[in-house]
Amino acid sequence: MQISEKQLALVNDRLQAILKSENYFGRMYREMGITEIKTPDDFKKLPFIDKAELRNAYPLGIQAVPDSEIVRIHSSSGTTGKPVIIPYTAKDVDDWATMFARCYETAGITKEDRIQITPGYGLWTAGIGFQAGCEKLGAMAIPMGPGNTEKQLSMMQDLKSTVICATSSYALLLAEEINKRGLKENICLKKGVIGSERWSEKKREYIANELGIELYDIYGLTEIYGPGIGVNCSLQTGMHIWDDYLYTEIIDPVTGENVPDGEEGEIVITTLVKEGAPLLRFRTHDLSRIIPGECPCGSRYPRLDIIKGRSDDMFKVHGVNMFPSQVEELLGTVDGVSSEYKIDIAHDDEKNRDIILLTVEAEGRVNFDKTGEAIRNAFKSKMSVTPKVVVVSLGTLPRSEKKTKRVFDHRDE
Ligand SMILES: [Zn+2]
Repeated sequence: MQISEKQLALVNDRLQAILKSENYFGRMYREMGITEIKTPDDFKKLPFIDKAELRNAYPLGIQAVPDSEIVRIHSSSGTTGKPVIIPYTAKDVDDWATMFARCYETAGITKEDRIQITPGYGLWTAGIGFQAGCEKLGAMAIPMGPGNTEKQLSMMQDLKSTVICATSSYALLLAEEINKRGLKENICLKKGVIGSERWSEKKREYIANELGIELYDIYGLTEIYGPGIGVNCSLQTGMHIWDDYLYTEIIDPVTGENVPDGEEGEIVITTLVKEGAPLLRFRTHDLSRIIPGECPCGSRYPRLDIIKGRSDDMFKVHGVNMFPSQVEELLGTVDGVSSEYKIDIAHDDEKNRDIILLTVEAEGRVNFDKTGEAIRNAFKSKMSVTPKVVVVSLGTLPRSEKKTKRVFDHRDE
């Protein structure tokens, strides 16, 4: 998607602010001789920013305004190394809430709704983003935070929550508990707003059917405000992205070149009005594509397809590149298998080859041995690798309140 004149002017405005602030990126651009962005070509000369650079600038090296203007920080927890700290001005906090309220509206949620918020509050951007957007919209927030399923279910019934906000894994856990306890008649949920990550069609169907709700994928990441920068409309034709706040590109993750609209690649985001920590061409490592054309819903905002996975989730076994999404698709074809799985990769030094151990859940009605055999054969024919398969009963694998880690590589240990 070509950058518009208006967006270019905003990018240049942010560049000037960054240069003036002499922050980490201001110094970097000055050294590179980047002083102005006037044309789409100037824009493409901007280097990509990766999360590693944000870590180098720890703790507040990317702050682009004086301390007196910062009202809050958030932090994205890294599994490795230092966290990343993102400072926000009052305007940033307000802009984020405005975008989030727009997400709720796009999902058909109104001020009459009661929104039960289960993502975590604190340094993480999740819970507080859902909350601020809800208050901006004027709906009733039920700020539960994560866990305590017992209390979640009683509040959901007593307060007649109409919207549930959760990760897909936690929504699945709630759906399973409601099913198990036969509570479906007692709940008033109509919609679910689910933090966007790669999740299978099977899981989506199960949650939608068990809870009898419509599901909406909400997109976002801490480095770029947090969740709330895009969401599905009711036509479910992809997530509308707020291009008055952000410019979105899709690149080939290996070459860094822009790919044509419609083609899959890595999402790169430029903030257009962010003050506290403006970021130009930030690599998200999320994989998706721009959906060409306009949505039949009439919204003028461009659309991103649902997230297909992470470019850094790719794993290599026997020289073959694999994505978790391929594993999910494959499991979706086997009867009685749930959407939850875990992959452990190790190396057999004696035989000098990689070993994949795949743990999957299956319903009690199916034969675990035959199911394991079917999965093994499907892998062999579709992905040219033969994993060891362990079939366990439903609910054995952990359901996470954050994004679920599924691939564990033990080869370097
Ligand atoms: Zn639409």
